[in-house]
Amino acid sequence: MEVHDVEMVMSAVAASQYPTDQLPEIALSGRSNVGKSSLINKLINRKSYARTSSKPGKTQTLNFYRVENELYFVDVPGYGYAKVSKKQREKFGQIIEAYLTSRSNLKGLISLIDGRHEPTDDDIAMYVFAKYYDIPVLVVATKMDKISTGKWNRQEKIIKEALDFNPVDQFVCFSALTGAGKETVWEWIEKQCAI
Ligand code: GDP
Repeated sequence: MEVHDVEMVMSAVAASQYPTDQLPEIALSGRSNVGKSSLINKLINRKSYARTSSKPGKTQTLNFYRVENELYFVDVPGYGYAKVSKKQREKFGQIIEAYLTSRSNLKGLISLIDGRHEPTDDDIAMYVFAKYYDIPVLVVATKMDKISTGKWNRQEKIIKEALDFNPVDQFVCFSALTGAGKETVWEWIEKQCAI
């Protein structure tokens, strides 16, 4: 999709604050610093629309971005940041869980995983959770420009094995720097949202 118009419409912590205009929604999750803001900015062709700082607890709310009046990106709170207190983490978990389990407009989850490493326990828990609730998932391995392309297949295999990856889902290697994988991400989004 060629994106010209994006609006950050709201931050929500409860269902009563979610948008009411019934557009399809694609959620994006990942640990803090995984490259989520960079992915969103790349998808919408902006330099710094979504915030790209990595302060702990930066995003404690669900942020809804309306894209071209066609769909919403829903930026869910970054999980697994070591410096965030256990209590704060539990709160993030509740906000994410309440949204993912109750939202009929939700058409899929983009789960970002640092492509240089094995998935963390939190990454695995998020994937298992999404599968339990039958949410279609696109796993995006981020920062792949930091790995030579000859090693991409190996990383894909490592990540898929750790996740016990379900073949109904899709996997893509991505770089916000080079734009690698961007078209695949958009194709998956358009398919999920039927646009
Ligand atoms: P967020 O906390 O998940 O929103 O992560 P950010 O998008 O803020 O990115 C965290 C850090 O990783 C920043 O310093 C980014 O510049 C860097 N980063 C994000 N994506 C990429 C990428 O594809 N390649 C490289 N080399 N760096 C990236």
